[in-house]
Amino acid sequence: MRSSGGASLHVLPALPYAHAALEPHIDARTMALHHGKHHASYVDNLNRALAGFPELQHRSALWLLQNSGEIPVAARTAVRNNAGGHLNHGLLWRAMSPGGGGEPAGALSDAIKRDFGGFAQFKSRFADAGNKVFGAGWVWLVRAQMDGGALQVVTTSGHENPQMRGRFPVLVNDVWEHAYYLKHENRRLDYLNAWWAIADWDEAARRYEMSGNAAARQQDNDDGRPIAPA
Ligand code: MN
Repeated sequence: MRSSGGASLHVLPALPYAHAALEPHIDARTMALHHGKHHASYVDNLNRALAGFPELQHRSALWLLQNSGEIPVAARTAVRNNAGGHLNHGLLWRAMSPGGGGEPAGALSDAIKRDFGGFAQFKSRFADAGNKVFGAGWVWLVRAQMDGGALQVVTTSGHENPQMRGRFPVLVNDVWEHAYYLKHENRRLDYLNAWWAIADWDEAARRYEMSGNAAARQQDNDDGRPIAPA
């Protein structure tokens, strides 16, 4: 967070690796555009949408998504779309790593076996769900906050985030065409299958552990701003 004339602005987080670090699975040009143009535009447009509402400018992207009734109607759609774009892309960059791939370990591995029947079955479910998203959206491995905390594969449209529906993200992939089209063109399933080589299971395991801790869940957002009621 930085300040400008008393108002705090959302900022584009630095990528945790170089644009070319995920080659050949995701090409450097796609990463440069996806982070430096697409994600950057969500941040800029979120700040622009909040420009007339100083009482909302210190709120996290997650808070803005979870409290849309607090957003003036004239700004509500722009805030929701761009707060979601900002939050979801921050999660996406951390869901991938040049040292990724392989399989999850520990409690997350056990939960995947319990709830999907095995790791291969989970991967198939996730890729199939992502492939079937109509238009632009996201595919997620989430932990439900109800139903005994079961793992589920869910999809969202646009830039909606499953925390708007009581589900905590463990792993996420972006299936908007801008995420894959330069390299994979119309073959979204090829991208989803190639993506396993860079999925960061250490980060997913960390998030699975966090999912069982209400206080940690509340603090998990784009920039560390509190989302609990003021
Ligand atoms: Mn994207």
